[in-house]
Amino acid sequence: MIVTRFAPSPTGYLHIGGARTALFCFLAARKGSGKFILRMEDTDQKRNTPTAAQQVMKDLAWLGIMWDEGPEVGGENGPYYQSERLDIYNKYMQQLLDSGRAYYCFDTPEELQIQREKAQQDKRTYTYDRPEVLPDVAAVERAEKEGRPVVVRFAMPGNDIVVQDVVRGGVRFGAAEIGDFIIQKSDGFPTYHFACVVDDELMGVTHILRGQEHLMNTPGHIALQEALGFRRPVYAHMSVTISEGGGKLSKRERGKVLRQAIKEAEGLDHAELAQVGGVSVEEFAGFLNKKNELDGPNITAIAEHIHVHLPEINVVDFLHSGYIPEALVNFVSLLGWNPGDNREIMPIEELIEAFDINRLNKTNSLFDRKKLISFNTEHMRIIAPEKLLEHFKRYLEVVESPIGKADDKTLAHLLKICEGARTLEDVATKSMFLFVDKVEFDEKAVKKVLQKDGVAELMKLTQSALAALETWDAHSLHGAIEKLCEEHQVGMGKVAQPLRVAITGTMVSPPIDESLMLLGKERTLKRIDDTLEFIS
Ligand code: GLU
Repeated sequence: MIVTRFAPSPTGYLHIGGARTALFCFLAARKGSGKFILRMEDTDQKRNTPTAAQQVMKDLAWLGIMWDEGPEVGGENGPYYQSERLDIYNKYMQQLLDSGRAYYCFDTPEELQIQREKAQQDKRTYTYDRPEVLPDVAAVERAEKEGRPVVVRFAMPGNDIVVQDVVRGGVRFGAAEIGDFIIQKSDGFPTYHFACVVDDELMGVTHILRGQEHLMNTPGHIALQEALGFRRPVYAHMSVTISEGGGKLSKRERGKVLRQAIKEAEGLDHAELAQVGGVSVEEFAGFLNKKNELDGPNITAIAEHIHVHLPEINVVDFLHSGYIPEALVNFVSLLGWNPGDNREIMPIEELIEAFDINRLNKTNSLFDRKKLISFNTEHMRIIAPEKLLEHFKRYLEVVESPIGKADDKTLAHLLKICEGARTLEDVATKSMFLFVDKVEFDEKAVKKVLQKDGVAELMKLTQSALAALETWDAHSLHGAIEKLCEEHQVGMGKVAQPLRVAITGTMVSPPIDESLMLLGKERTLKRIDDTLEFIS
């Protein structure tokens, strides 16, 4: 049976790259009728937070990447938080210490720095200099008394190690490349390398799919497995995804775009922005001057407040921008993998069916945002309406849209008449006119549509025709507008477009008859009144 695991170090929101790793592990397990485990690698006391772990789980669940074993769902191999497994690690740590495959060190950071500089001067790769006689317990006690940091290092075996990687084939690491690395930190916690190797063994993991950046860790992991008498799992290190800007997809991109937008839009009230973002005025000023970065949610709140679109990086950003998870999952699945034919739009069942780790590719993939938009448009079109409604409600909730107060029937209706929308955000933008008391006119719409000769006259006639209607439904409204156009020998657009601007303030809305129907007679006539007044 194939067993995979996703093992995030929960420091913040789930990054889209992490989502890809999780997805591939999930697909591999489902395809092989195996098991997908979620494990929280939270042994970094300073950086890992319980709320981050919660957020990661929320993001995975939104994407539909559900784990068979792990936090919340449990399983036979728990606990699934590494911070709760210290006894287990200590046992194996002792085994290595007893057999001389691991040893204590007490170097201060300054001493290590000197060793590093010396290596640099000698133009050789720095590796830790293992002492000829390994320190005994008495030495450890002395070091502790002196207040030195006590760590445990693994003694590398001193031979070349070949990593058999599914994506890259055999990759050889020379004996001199990898020195004795730390497996237990001075706070008594195991390092990632040690905890990861122990857990993969005990949890029965057969296939390790992870980012390319971990390839250089793998020879160390293999050496640990051999020293502990563990199995060696299959390794697949996945290629890198590059952002359209050229670099890695990094959350710094969001800060950069926001900073630029604030600088360009002169005259913004910085104290107000700081408050919106939930940060102090000083922190905000530091952010603008590139002295510090702000956290994801703070940046998002400010950007949403001033209507600036930021490049999405974390899974939660895509939710906030109105993407649906089916589209995101499908899009991400094609970053560094392909089904072996020309298929692109694939629902999850099809992805599982087609998935094969042997078709993971070596070349870097591009995070093509235009392609993502087209995937989203298509998935919004093919998804079951009930599911789309669910996603829409979730979206409205997270962006705190007033549209969220509407009942399911209205929301479903809005989705239906906005067919062809690219994102849920588009649907919300187009529907917003129904949820405001007063229309704000878009400058462009005023110039292009309202400030044209004869618009006021035709609008007055339209108003009377609508006022005279007894039934207010899409069909009757459509008929009334058509009749008006015939009577006055004008094209549909001449009547519909000014009317659209009158009721929405903009040039885009759902079909005009549907829009009028939803707005209702009274509010429509009132908005036409207001517009006529505005024109004159
Ligand atoms: N906690 C590691 C990370 O988040 C896991 C790497 C691995 O999959 O082994 O990068």
